[in-house]
Amino acid sequence: MKPVLKVEGLKKYFPIKSLLRTIAWVKAVDGITLEIMSGETFGLVGESGCGKTTTGRTILRLIEPTEGKIIFKGKDVMSLKGKDLLWFRRNAQIMFQDPYSSLNPRQTVFNIIMEPVRFHGIEVDDPEEFVIKLLESVGLNEMHLYRYPHEFSGGQRQRIALARLMALKPEFIVLDEPTSALDVSVQANILNTLKELQSEYGFTYLFISHDLGVVKYMSHRIGVMYLGKLVEVGPSDRIFENPLHPYTQMLLSAIPVPDPELAQELKAKRKMVKGEPPSPVNPPAGCRFHPRCPFAKDVCRKEEPPLVEVERDHYVACWLYAKS
Ligand code: SF4
Repeated sequence: MKPVLKVEGLKKYFPIKSLLRTIAWVKAVDGITLEIMSGETFGLVGESGCGKTTTGRTILRLIEPTEGKIIFKGKDVMSLKGKDLLWFRRNAQIMFQDPYSSLNPRQTVFNIIMEPVRFHGIEVDDPEEFVIKLLESVGLNEMHLYRYPHEFSGGQRQRIALARLMALKPEFIVLDEPTSALDVSVQANILNTLKELQSEYGFTYLFISHDLGVVKYMSHRIGVMYLGKLVEVGPSDRIFENPLHPYTQMLLSAIPVPDPELAQELKAKRKMVKGEPPSPVNPPAGCRFHPRCPFAKDVCRKEEPPLVEVERDHYVACWLYAKS
């Protein structure tokens, strides 16, 4: 498989201003490097505020990066202009968490789906038939063609957003918490539709979520983010069966277990991690997780651990696995 997307040393800092002067920076994304292969789902997971949404939006240049390289299908995204930038916009799309705010309430479903098609100058023989086919592929039908967004449920609105994305046949889609605003039963339907569309059309997904169960279900590989950095990257099953980074272990141990006895057993076994994540304005020196980590040693407070391959395709940024 070839990489569709390569990201190297991506940073996004937001200024904090006082009296028109920048007095500090929020280091939302602070040196992310990753590759996403064609047809793959790469899950990005972490607590809220860890920088996963900013990473997705920066990759798409919806917000400009502070530093770093983004290579999409061999092209340097930061240098794209004019027609080339339009090509990128058409091929790299995003599905937002809140389907209602991403659909124009004054437009019918037909117009909502045709708008990007017209904008990109895509020629369609029979627009009505084109839109009906798209609606059918996401589980809607021609009855919905001339209705407005407020006439639909949350799940149906997310399907309309999906049909609009598919109209452009993008190769890469950032799915930013696409089901977290939906009921559990509707979530499952949307996730299954996303998987079916991927196997039919070969879409490549960056799947962003704080819900580990959903990320596991969707992703081939997973990247765990903490305070703007990737701390563990590996195949989905390996991350869940054998999490190496203490932060990943903490996240997994927080998943509710339905069996109370097993839950007690797991609780007794694991080392408890305390506290909240520190502020990204002034992140801790060395390993950013050290104030919360039960295994922290001297080197952790002074030097930042590099992301190293500990076993095949499984990378961890932790001094427990790297040579200081
Ligand atoms: Fe904990 Fe040190 Fe590893 Fe950071 S580098 S996760 S503080 S053991």
